[in-house]
Amino acid sequence: MNDLHHEKHRWFLAAVSSPFVHSRYRQPLADGDHWKAALRSVMMLHNESCNIFTHLLALLAAATMLLAILVSGMAPVFELGVQFLPSRAAAAAALVPAEALAAASFPTWPISLFLGGFMSCTLGSTLYHTFVVVSPRAFQFLLRIDYAAICALVVSCGISACQHVFHCLTGVATTMSIACLGCGGALIVLIATGKMETLGGAARVGLFAGLTAANLSPLIGILVTPLRHATPMVEAVGWAAACVVIHGFGGALYAMRVPERWWPGRFDLFYSHTLMHVCVNVGSFCYFLALCHMHSWRLMPGNSNCAAPGMADKEWPWFLWQ
Ligand SMILES: [Zn+2]
Repeated sequence: MNDLHHEKHRWFLAAVSSPFVHSRYRQPLADGDHWKAALRSVMMLHNESCNIFTHLLALLAAATMLLAILVSGMAPVFELGVQFLPSRAAAAAALVPAEALAAASFPTWPISLFLGGFMSCTLGSTLYHTFVVVSPRAFQFLLRIDYAAICALVVSCGISACQHVFHCLTGVATTMSIACLGCGGALIVLIATGKMETLGGAARVGLFAGLTAANLSPLIGILVTPLRHATPMVEAVGWAAACVVIHGFGGALYAMRVPERWWPGRFDLFYSHTLMHVCVNVGSFCYFLALCHMHSWRLMPGNSNCAAPGMADKEWPWFLWQ
């Protein structure tokens, strides 16, 4: 890091360094086209290596899962006696009653959408940490893409959960999904184009509040309606809550620069930002499990057949007024 404190590299220090990370910096590549050099540096050991690979490997894992769902036409389920990605033939042969299998139809696109959101988040992060050294402009641009991609993940969480929970309340499912897409989409565009600052404070709060409300609505929907008697649905709320706690924990570690604050220079390869990445992965996997539980419940006999009499979630409006 011999050249790092030179005046022209101040942006780089502001951008990526932590005052408690002392070594293993890549040289900022501010002069000319150094995208290839930055790409080559992926195969070297430096203080962004763990940041790059924690999200690159998670991206590959999510892509593999998405491919498996697209090819098999089935998402992982928990409550049908089948643990993971059953083939229809294997399920029919041994584990699932024929009538359950016949009734087991629920679209997999909401779970696939979530995996797509997670992949966009990890891809944005991987690109940011790989190419942040290229130039101040690259840093500014990639940082915006990174934040916008996080927003895309939140949008995909909300829409996916709304589609599972409000399946038989089509109006609610559509309204909440549009709210999620509208508020989140506006935030994604504003962040990606660097126009966030042009937005008034109230409008900004409104967009974040709308996105948050749309994400909370399916979880509250489970807890205040007869769906609270459906064990997989309640377990899904637990997994979603675990996701929020783990993401919050990771964010707090990063904000406080723990643990490198306590032992400066001792955590130069794996520090608070890397721990935050791990928390994003683990928390998002918890949310994936939440969606799998919702999906599993929908696949149980009759639970996705909205025309059936006595469908629990069709009785919601009555229940709420009782
Ligand atoms: Zn990061």
